[in-house]
Amino acid sequence: MMPLGRKQPVSILDSPEAAAVQSLFGLNHQQLTTLLGEFSEPAYRVKQLSEALYRGWEEDLAEVSTLPRNLRAAMVERGYAVGLPRIVESFVSIDGTERYLIAGNDGQTVETVWMPDGDGGEAGDGSESGTDLRRATICVSSQIGCAVNCQFCLTAKLGIIRNLTAGEIAGQVVAVLKRHKVKIGKDRINLVFMGMGEPFLNYDEFMAAVRLLVEEVGIPESRMTVSTSGIVPGILRFAQEPIRPKLAISLNAPNDAARTEIMPITKKWNLDHVIAAVRQVPLRAKEKITFEYVLLGGLNDRERDADEVGRLLRRANVPLKVNLIVWNPGPGMPYSMSDPHTVHLFQYRLKFNNLSAYVRRPRGRDIYAACGQLKRTTDNLVQLSGTS
Ligand code: SAH
Ligand code: SF4
Repeated sequence: MMPLGRKQPVSILDSPEAAAVQSLFGLNHQQLTTLLGEFSEPAYRVKQLSEALYRGWEEDLAEVSTLPRNLRAAMVERGYAVGLPRIVESFVSIDGTERYLIAGNDGQTVETVWMPDGDGGEAGDGSESGTDLRRATICVSSQIGCAVNCQFCLTAKLGIIRNLTAGEIAGQVVAVLKRHKVKIGKDRINLVFMGMGEPFLNYDEFMAAVRLLVEEVGIPESRMTVSTSGIVPGILRFAQEPIRPKLAISLNAPNDAARTEIMPITKKWNLDHVIAAVRQVPLRAKEKITFEYVLLGGLNDRERDADEVGRLLRRANVPLKVNLIVWNPGPGMPYSMSDPHTVHLFQYRLKFNNLSAYVRRPRGRDIYAACGQLKRTTDNLVQLSGTS
């Protein structure tokens, strides 16, 4: 692996004036209605504006020709702008994965990843068939950095810098859809909320982004998966949501003692609590809960660990599958990757325990785009396209 040069997060577009701009992107139907009401505009203008933002992916209010010129001018005058997050850097992997740094209004950047052909993690969820034009998965961030402190995760090293807004979360998706000229309703795009951050520690903005993406952008919730480290109050709220992605739980260890070592959050909510909360989520037809398991060489990848995972998950008694993720290395981290034979044996052992188990194909390791590698790394990489 290439060494990480930078230790501190870097703000790429540090522009104080930009922070004063009020973004339209991120406002829901109700909020747009209130706003246009202040301009004394008729109700149909709301639809025109939301079409321009969420279907037309317009970046400049001046270009929204469906709205009267004087309205656009009045909005600009009052400090409004579209405020769609912008891709400021991109890196392309030899496997086709692309990693972007995307800037919000304050210039802080987050990471978003485009993976052509899906990430393999959706195998077995009943959604593989179809004659779509294109298939891809977008991995979306929910926070800048993360407070959870999992010992094997590079994002944890940043600490928590700040929450993202709903507009910044949904905006990552739209910026990437726009870059790839995706046709909504034709191309098959999956979203995984598995980038930087813990979505359930930014619950309201995260769920507001989901609703925007479903209701306004037009991506079906059945093609979205959110992963959590096991934030129990978040899981319980999620269980009540009428519109929600599928759920993935980062299990990563077969019991509380082992999990506490690598995921100290287990002290707050142990596995029994997490599983009891997961059981509250009413599943749709064919829906399964995903349990993610990062394999750490010699630590949690033994056959007896697989058997213990088998017993634990059988007790959980929910429709589920296990996604095995070979640990992606980061500098200075005291773990190693399980060798392919061990991975295979672990998967076999889970299957022997009557569990569906898949091994997630690593994507974009060469550009630090793989799971747990998102740390806004820009050094030592070939930059293929610059600021847009
Ligand atoms: N915070 C959420 C979602 C982002 S992390 C969560 O933890 O679930 C997404 C997935 O990447 C999690 O399953 C996590 O366990 C895994 N992960 C973190 N660091 C990793 C690494 N270095 N190698 C492989 N997977 C990692
Ligand atoms: Fe945060 Fe997820 Fe990384 Fe844990 S694995 S530190 S919860 S991003």
